[in-house]
Formats: sequence, structure tokens, C-alpha cells
Amino acid sequence: DDANFHPGDFAEQGISQQGPNQVVSPDYVGYESYKALGGYSLAKEIHSGKHSVESIIKAMENSGLRGLGGAGFPAGRKWRIVKDQIAPKLMAVNIDEGEPGTFKDRTYLERDPHRFLEGMLIAASVVGIDACYIYLRDEYHGCRELLELELTKLRANPPYPLPLIELRRGAGAYICGEESAMIESIEGKRGEPRMRPPYIAQVGLFGRPTLEHNFETLYWVRDIVQRGPDWFSSFGLNGRKGLRSFSVSGRVNQPGVKLAPAGITIQELIDNYCGGMQAGHQFYGYLPGGASGGILPATMNDIPLDFDTLQPYGCFIGSAAVMVFSDQDKARDMALNVMRFFEHESCGQCTPCRVGTSKAAQLMQDTSWDQTTLEDLATVMVDASICGLGQAAPNPIRCIQKYFPQEVA
Ligand code: SF4
Repeated sequence: DDANFHPGDFAEQGISQQGPNQVVSPDYVGYESYKALGGYSLAKEIHSGKHSVESIIKAMENSGLRGLGGAGFPAGRKWRIVKDQIAPKLMAVNIDEGEPGTFKDRTYLERDPHRFLEGMLIAASVVGIDACYIYLRDEYHGCRELLELELTKLRANPPYPLPLIELRRGAGAYICGEESAMIESIEGKRGEPRMRPPYIAQVGLFGRPTLEHNFETLYWVRDIVQRGPDWFSSFGLNGRKGLRSFSVSGRVNQPGVKLAPAGITIQELIDNYCGGMQAGHQFYGYLPGGASGGILPATMNDIPLDFDTLQPYGCFIGSAAVMVFSDQDKARDMALNVMRFFEHESCGQCTPCRVGTSKAAQLMQDTSWDQTTLEDLATVMVDASICGLGQAAPNPIRCIQKYFPQEVA
């Protein structure tokens, strides 16, 4: 019930350490406990046809739930599109969580893995999925051990005949968090993004129509269907609707995963969820959406953080990884660090991204920037890169030029 829901709770629990062969949260909700608390009864009802497929899809659509991996595509609409494709259909679940500063999926997975698995099974029943492939970040050793254990228990004592569920291990490439590169990787190929169309909803994994979801999107499915779409959309601030799990890091007193209303501003997030700035640090700027989402100054502290709201400023929220920096940091250092990351993680498939990120990282080391050449590079990368990595890579360049010009003059 709603009494179990305390936005911000995960902040207090912190993030546990992971190492090889280490199950990290001994107090997580395991299969027996989850079932004892009513878990899987909804999935069972839906599988048995007790609820109409249309009513479930309508609930998803009305909740306003959007893809929480970063792209923000409406989840219900995605279900409807894939449902109408010809069988066999597959599902690919993205737990690659490679966006710098993002650690929300891991936080939920370490604590309540079956809430996600039930969401996945509900989606599978509604959409008509034959097999589910879970793609888990290689670095999450503890999560893998936990998920293997819980999947074994689920398969041994299933609530109803389950579709095939396979757990696949990533190999540490950031680009494999891009949906089509992830699919290539699951197929055993080099993780390179595909050109679209065709969209993976039509031609995806192994050439079949594929429902692709981020972990957290599926994590909310059970609650949305059980509590009703209005429950989810009743949260929200500054004209926005829903809940967002912000992974907050940087110069705040209490970093961590903050479950907060969509549309909260950075100032509200810092003051009301993160215990304010650390002693001796004055708020100077923030990255609202991980490495890709741009960089904004503290003076722009009243923008609602949500999908779409940051676009006019050349930024986006992505997977809601918020990094806060202070007067003791330089925005240009952050931009350079981000560009070096993109240079390292570019898959190299297209020239504007492969060469552009490398050249930009070189130019960004100069005390005063060659603004004309950097802007030329930015234009080519945005216009001619195949995927979001190359298209978003110039965001830090443009944000520094626009909002922190004094640092690179
Ligand atoms: Fe690869 Fe970059 Fe091209 Fe994306 S934009 S396909 S990461 S080279």
C-alpha cells in the first residue's frame, strides 16, 4: 500500500559494495518472501486471462510511464506496437546501466528483484512474448549472483508455465546500453548500433519483433497495474507527472538514489532530498542527465527535471543521473572528462563520432578553446552520427560555450 512508499527512502540505505562472488544485500526480498507478500498473484491472474489485455495496456498508457533507461518512449504505446506484430516475439531487458553516474537499477535490483521479474512476466503475457533476454552489466557481479539464484527459485516453483528467461552478461561496453547495440551483443556479435528503420519493435533480436525495456520501467509495472494508473501519475511537481529515480552524486551531503516527483528542480532535489551542499562548497553547476545530458549552471536552478523540459536548454534528463558540482570545480574539466569518455566508448562505426570525439577532446585541453572548429565538429557529429552517442557527444561543448564562456575564453 501507499504506506510502503516513501520517496527518498533509498537515500538512507546507501549503496553497498560489490565484489566477485558476493551477494550484496542479505536483506533483499527473496522469492519466498515476495510470494508471501502477494507477489506474482497479479502476473498469474493476467496470464490466466482474468484481466483483458486491452485494460492492462490502457492502464500503462494512462499512467504516463515512459522508458526510464533514457529515451523516454511511452511504455504502453510500445506494448501496443509490439503486441500487434507477428509471433514469435521476444523481449530484451536492458540492465547494462553504463551511463556515468547512474546506479538506480542496481539499487532496486539488489533489494527487490522479483518486483522487476514480475513486471517483465506481466509484459510478456500482455504482449505475447515467447522468450525474455536479460542483459546485465558485467561489472554487477553481486547482482548477477543474486539474479541467477532468484531465477533458479522462480523456475523451480513457477506461478504458471513461464516463457524462456535467459540471463546474458555484458562485457563492459557503454555502447551496448544502446538498444540495437545490445541486441547485436545478445546475438553474439560486436556491439554496434543498427541503422533504423527497421525499428526493433518490428525487426529486433534474432530478426523477430522485440519489446525492449530498461530494468526500472518494468520495475514499476506491477504497482501501476495494481494501484491504478492514477497512482503513478498523481506524483509530480511543477506541472509534470510521475515518479523519477534520481541517481545523485557529487558535492551534496547525502548522495544516493532519490525517488522523487517528476519535475522537481535541482534546487529542490539538493535541499529537500540530499541534505544540501557539503560544507565549504557553493553550488556552481550540474549535469542533469549523466554524461550525455549536458551541463547547466547553478543560476538555472528552477528548471523542472523531466523528459522534454530540458531540451530548450540543449540538455536532457536521460536516465536521471544528476551530478552536482561546486565552486571548487571547473565545468570545463567536467566537459573534457565527458568527451574523453565518449572518445573511449565510441564504437568506431561512423567517422563523425570516432574522429570527432577524439579531435574535440584534443581541442578541449587548450586553455582557450578554438570555438569555431569545435562548433564545426559539433555540427557534423550531431548531423551525421548513426546513434545517440555521437549525436549527444557535443552537448558538453555547447553547454560550456553557452553557460560557462568565462572558463574557455
Ligand atoms: Fe558508434 Fe559513435 Fe557511430 Fe554510435 S555514433 S554508431 S557509437 S561511432
